[in-house]
Amino acid sequence: MKRFDYMRPLSVADAVSAYKPGAAYLGGGTNLLDLMKIGVMQPETLIDLGRIAELEAIEMLPDGGARIGALVKNSDLAYDRAFAAAFPMVAEAILAGASGQLRNAATVGGNLMQKTRCTYFQDPHSPCNRREPGTGCAAREGDNANLAVLGWSDACIATNPSDMCVPLAALGAVIEVQGPAGKRDIPIANFHFLPGDQPENETALQPGELVVAIRLPAEAAAFARNARYLKVRERTSFAFALVSVAAALQIEGGRITEARLALGAVAAKPWRVTAAEELLAGQAPTAEAFARAADALLQGARPSGENGYKIELARRAIVRALQMSAAGTPKRMPALPASSFAEEVSHV
Ligand SMILES: Cc1cc2nc3c(=O)[nH]c(=O)nc-3n(C[C@H](O)[C@H](O)[C@H](O)COP(=O)(O)OP(=O)(O)OC[C@H]3O[C@@H](n4cnc5c(N)ncnc54)[C@H](O)[C@@H]3O)c2cc1C
Ligand code: SF4
Repeated sequence: MKRFDYMRPLSVADAVSAYKPGAAYLGGGTNLLDLMKIGVMQPETLIDLGRIAELEAIEMLPDGGARIGALVKNSDLAYDRAFAAAFPMVAEAILAGASGQLRNAATVGGNLMQKTRCTYFQDPHSPCNRREPGTGCAAREGDNANLAVLGWSDACIATNPSDMCVPLAALGAVIEVQGPAGKRDIPIANFHFLPGDQPENETALQPGELVVAIRLPAEAAAFARNARYLKVRERTSFAFALVSVAAALQIEGGRITEARLALGAVAAKPWRVTAAEELLAGQAPTAEAFARAADALLQGARPSGENGYKIELARRAIVRALQMSAAGTPKRMPALPASSFAEEVSHV
């Protein structure tokens, strides 16, 4: 590993002032330190956010929304009873990710910022436009069975691997950031970039900006009774998604009044198409209505390699996730022991 300087500031302001080109912010280190060990990331300075107390709070806001500090651990958020009751599909998505040990160390800021798991991005000896612009894309002719079917370009076909970001996208989360030019809010829809011809530009963060918090708007809590996260993967633990779906509904008098829908593991960002949600409004929660929404969400999907199967898999997963959501958020999920769902939770 390359030598680097290490700093541990006590405030966001100090962290921002410590930033200089070539530096990287450190959350739980479960992604960044791995990439440093294999030479994919080589920061000259690590700015460890781990001692910044102002980044550690989970706040349930008076209006019904929530604000989650960037340093909150993935496990702490998923196991927070008030949070899980109001935003169950975010808790369910977090608990579907990684392993217990990783979730105990990983932060929500780091989860939002985690790098793609494309095999060639993680191999410094392979051509990769995202890691080293202009070198090419080894995945186009290589191991691409789990790569993008939406929003990809000739330059890059990688996917965003985060589970947590999928329900956050469906629920319209806002990312609070702070940097040398001050504070600003970025809607999650604008946070991650599609590759275009500059896949190295991954997020809307400017140099020196760090994620301070993630905010869920009050209206997101109105979906708590009918909200599910479905993750399809090769084994039921410790595996990234092949396809995942966050599906949330509001149902009154047997009709859907509002829907939220996002797909994970199909593009370089969580994939949300509001037109697909609008198709569900006013409909009875039937398989036919769900299939129409699935087709709208998948409009424009095309294989980028040996991954055409993901389109049909996604179509079926969307219908299934909407059916699960229509059946109601379970008060208990025995499959998630030691979580907020292990005991009865009342979804507001
Ligand atoms: C074996 C394994 C399996 C996994 N499986 C899954 C899975 O199934 N689903 C899933 O969603 N994830 C999975 N993960 C990924 C895991 O969720 C991420 O590693 C984790 O969320 C990153 O959080 P961290 O705090 O450790 O980030 P770090 O490793 O500290 O940082 C990651 C990136 O974010 C940047 N960063 C961190 N905090 C901030 C901040 N506040 N502001 C700006 N930039 C910041 C860092 O500079 C770095 O580029 C897996 C990881 C491993 C190692
Ligand atoms: S898909 Fe993207 S991340 Fe993977 S090798 Fe190609 S350019 Fe790199």
